Amino acid sequence: AGESVAVALRDVSHHYGGVAALHDIHLDIGKGAVIGVVGANGAGKSTLGKIIHGSLRPSSGQVRIGEPGARPVRSSLVPEGRALFKTLSLRENLEVAGYAVGVQGSALRTRLDETAEWLPERLRARLSVAAAGLSGGEQQILAVARALMARPDVLILDEPALGLAPALVDEVYARINQLARDGMTIVLLEQLLSRALTSCHEVVVLHEGRVAARGDASDPLFAETAELAYFGGE
Ligand code: ATP
Repeated sequence: AGESVAVALRDVSHHYGGVAALHDIHLDIGKGAVIGVVGANGAGKSTLGKIIHGSLRPSSGQVRIGEPGARPVRSSLVPEGRALFKTLSLRENLEVAGYAVGVQGSALRTRLDETAEWLPERLRARLSVAAAGLSGGEQQILAVARALMARPDVLILDEPALGLAPALVDEVYARINQLARDGMTIVLLEQLLSRALTSCHEVVVLHEGRVAARGDASDPLFAETAELAYFGGE
């Protein structure tokens, strides 16, 4: 993680009608960080992810994505449940994502080739088969690849491990971590604290819409603090 801040949230609160989802979130995310946002069902992870992505405007507070004066930062969200086009081929799923950010023609082909290089060999060999034929883990990897078509600086993943066999979870997470080594900022929304602690640099624990703890994932003292915070303790 470098010095520069990719995302800064100040006093961010959100409510859906009368339902409060987030309270006074103050959070800086450094460029190139792999940050895990953990919390139980309803803790506010998805809401925070959409606000960081910029697709949801918070009820109050400030969101800054990128450094003032620097080039605008692009962010991309891999939603929970993946939302792939199952009847389209892998290549078509990637193409649609390219069109969505205005890339066409030879630029689209180049971008598709670059994105395909990130895919595991077994998926690269199956670019023309329908997405419906992929396993759950493979679909998750395709969903990440689709988000990569936007060439994001910040990538937000909403529970990418949901419903996957443990071996596939490891593969998906290893591939996500590889992106951070290349300078991308990764925000992983994750229900399991143990998984966030093993696969992220830093962990933020949300409890009932508030940041209940934040620390270095490799610090054994933090693991205890985080566990207490997760369940609403001090
Ligand atoms: P999950 O793991 O179940 O996805 P989460 O930690 O991602 O949970 P959010 O989805 O952000 O939590 O939800 C936070 C709170 O906001 C919950 O009380 C939820 O019921 C509520 N909420 C979320 N989306 C909406 C919505 N569109 N309309 C009304 N309430 C909502």
